[in-house]
Amino acid sequence: MGIDKDAITISGAGPAGLAAAITLAKAGQRVIVYERHAEVGSRFHGDLQGLENWTTTGNVLQELAGLGIETSFSATPFHDVTLFDPEGHEHHYHSPQPMAYIVHRGAAAGTLDSGLKDQALNAGVEIRFGKTCRQLPAGGIDAGGPHGADAIGVGYLFETDMADGAYVALSNQLAPGGYAYLLIQGGQGTLMSWMYADFHNEKIHLQRCEEFFYDKMKLEMKNPRHTGGAANFLYPRSARKGGLLYAGESAGFQDALWGFGMRYAMLSGCLAAKALLADRPEDYDRLWHKRLGGQLQAVLVNRYFYQRMNDRGFNLLLNSIDRAMQRKPDGRRWLHDYTALRFWKALCFPFINRLHHSKRSAPDASAEDCDCTWCRCQHSRP
Ligand SMILES: Cc1cc2nc3c(=O)[nH]c(=O)nc-3n(C[C@H](O)[C@H](O)[C@H](O)COP(=O)(O)OP(=O)(O)OC[C@H]3O[C@@H](n4cnc5c(N)ncnc54)[C@H](O)[C@@H]3O)c2cc1C
Repeated sequence: MGIDKDAITISGAGPAGLAAAITLAKAGQRVIVYERHAEVGSRFHGDLQGLENWTTTGNVLQELAGLGIETSFSATPFHDVTLFDPEGHEHHYHSPQPMAYIVHRGAAAGTLDSGLKDQALNAGVEIRFGKTCRQLPAGGIDAGGPHGADAIGVGYLFETDMADGAYVALSNQLAPGGYAYLLIQGGQGTLMSWMYADFHNEKIHLQRCEEFFYDKMKLEMKNPRHTGGAANFLYPRSARKGGLLYAGESAGFQDALWGFGMRYAMLSGCLAAKALLADRPEDYDRLWHKRLGGQLQAVLVNRYFYQRMNDRGFNLLLNSIDRAMQRKPDGRRWLHDYTALRFWKALCFPFINRLHHSKRSAPDASAEDCDCTWCRCQHSRP
């Protein structure tokens, strides 16, 4: 890897790396992004994902536009979601404002990844595909994505004649510690078990999800292909180390509660770039603490309690949503309130954070008790 002293180097052309690159290049900075794969979005193959729109009262696309990231990708607002309780009863929630935007991931035209790539190239960013960045020079941004698996998703992509919709099932039988989801948009579908425990039995959980949605929704999958991946989350004391800034999941910036990491990735990328543009890399920690810190703390506390829920806990949660909807039928508002940092969460955070041991922070992921089938640890592979 030849070093260009005038350029800022970024490893990883994911949402974090590309958002950082766009911000830097638009300010006139020369940028080189190294991407180890031959294209952007190689972790995904047309997966439908939700760009969350509930953690702020303002709109996510407007926030990104304010930071110079245009909506150059297909983003379909979704206002309605159906939740299934552990007994399979339906609960419908609506929101006047979009709760999230469905985006496609992968290298194809219209995906978030290719939209960001086009913006980066148009802004003058040089992307070196097929090049793994082994040693990033000081002053660079590490945006290499997750390094371990605190949560995993296993599922299918498929074509379908089913109507558009978003369906979520809360059940530890389907997705231990997490949730199962079915997203349908424009004839494309994604079925996923998003789990936080019992990774060894991923196939069993996925099979149950398939049967569940077949029973409830008459799931129809044409040409199903396997998909999935891992996420890691932690609250870093600092996102700077050895002269580098860490952005996106490489820093552990992820939604610990449900895995909605794209917004964190893009925002942290923009903030890292801003700190470098101001020639004050030391400001990065202050910037992300200010914008993302409270949110990251809140979702880690939420995760602690959510992970401990059994079927009764899920039912209580859904009953409380139902009651809130009767007072004000606004799903986005409920999500906002549920995931916001409250005084009691701020009090609990230091204790809960100490109990959270991310696979990212583990110096040796091949430890004897590692139950991760998705990290580099071969220990548990069949
Ligand atoms: C199955 C699944 C479903 C998900 N669903 C959602 C969802 O609905 N909503 C949501 O908001 N989030 C979702 N996420 C999370 C979201 O995809 C991630 O949080 C987000 O992509 C993180 O962006 P990133 O840029 O930090 O990392 P990545 O997207 O992982 O990008 C990192 C890039 O760096 C490259 N790279 C790594 N190391 C090097 C190196 N040394 N040199 C060069 N290149 C390198 C990789 O090839 C990759 O292209 C999901 C994740 C998974 C796995």
